[in-house]
Amino acid sequence: VALLSAAAAAPLVDGHCHPVVTGPVQPPEFEWWCSESASPPRPGESTMDSSLGYAIRRWCAPVLGLPAHAPLADYLWVRGELGPAEVTSRLLRAANLAGLLVDTGLPAAELTDLATLAEAAAAPVHEVVRLETLAERVATSGSAASFAPAFRDALVSTCDSGAVAVKSIVAYRHGLAVAPACPGRSEVTAAVGRWLRSGKRLTDPLVLSFLLWTAVDLGRPIQLHTGFGDADAAITGSDPGLLQPFCAATADRDTTLVLLHAYPYHRRAAWLAHVFPHVYVDVGLTVPYVGARASAVLAEFLELAPYGKVLYSSDGYGLPELHLTGAALFRQAIVAVFDAMVAQDALTEADAARVIEAVSSANARRIYRLP
Ligand SMILES: [Zn+2]
Repeated sequence: VALLSAAAAAPLVDGHCHPVVTGPVQPPEFEWWCSESASPPRPGESTMDSSLGYAIRRWCAPVLGLPAHAPLADYLWVRGELGPAEVTSRLLRAANLAGLLVDTGLPAAELTDLATLAEAAAAPVHEVVRLETLAERVATSGSAASFAPAFRDALVSTCDSGAVAVKSIVAYRHGLAVAPACPGRSEVTAAVGRWLRSGKRLTDPLVLSFLLWTAVDLGRPIQLHTGFGDADAAITGSDPGLLQPFCAATADRDTTLVLLHAYPYHRRAAWLAHVFPHVYVDVGLTVPYVGARASAVLAEFLELAPYGKVLYSSDGYGLPELHLTGAALFRQAIVAVFDAMVAQDALTEADAARVIEAVSSANARRIYRLP
């Protein structure tokens, strides 16, 4: 176990996460951030009475100087006394990260900027550009006819200025049944015209698939939301199995698809990573949310996905507690999974330690071409 624990203790690349809130967090708001539900629980219930809630108390309380499992009220009191900047830096540094890939597509004025996040975490931060957010920004100027080249130019210049990957939330906007070919220019112009006249957010499947195919042309890794998320996610439309035609159609292109989250369809995502060389799976969001069950779920990711194709992330957002809890649970889970495999003589401890290093950081460094 010593060799495995040492491998898991090395700095992690958090391959998908978000900034954290800058100001103090009041108790109801803290609970709100600890759930994918946007609605407050009913009286007498709490989002902290959950796998994630107990994991946060287990892993974060000691970093703030409290005993593990300290009551939530004590935790929030100490959190308030220490202040947001101190709490953020303690928790992010305790996560021991070698780098963070940060999705900047969720607009919120009160979130940290990337430089502040890097300073707090004492680790480099790499931007990930959200395709739909960029498209909506590009669409605020120009016409339907100018949209396609303007979007392509905007994406190229964002990538040139340092973004290491792009992210798609097509699962939220339409579903993962993405067209297996890039739509033609005139089709895109007509669809953009309909979208702009509607005055609504982008949900047109043709425009959404144009964004993805543009990203395929660019060659940057594409992260796709799959599986569970907030109540806005049509869960059956988020089944990564629906991406099979898109995966097949992009298999001979110089592109990389990273399937984020995936739960409860993580075994289907693992199958896609198994059969398509350019498809990878990321355990983010799932690992922190399943709490003490992380080792069971991680083991399921690793049943079919080749070990070089599984990536760590926390999907922490809003609270630095989520970045730390993801990291701590992942380390505990991957040691448990491979310790059991070594015990049954499935592989040597040295091989298991190498796999832990791959999933923890080496796979991410390779596919995102991190320095
Ligand atoms: Zn996310």
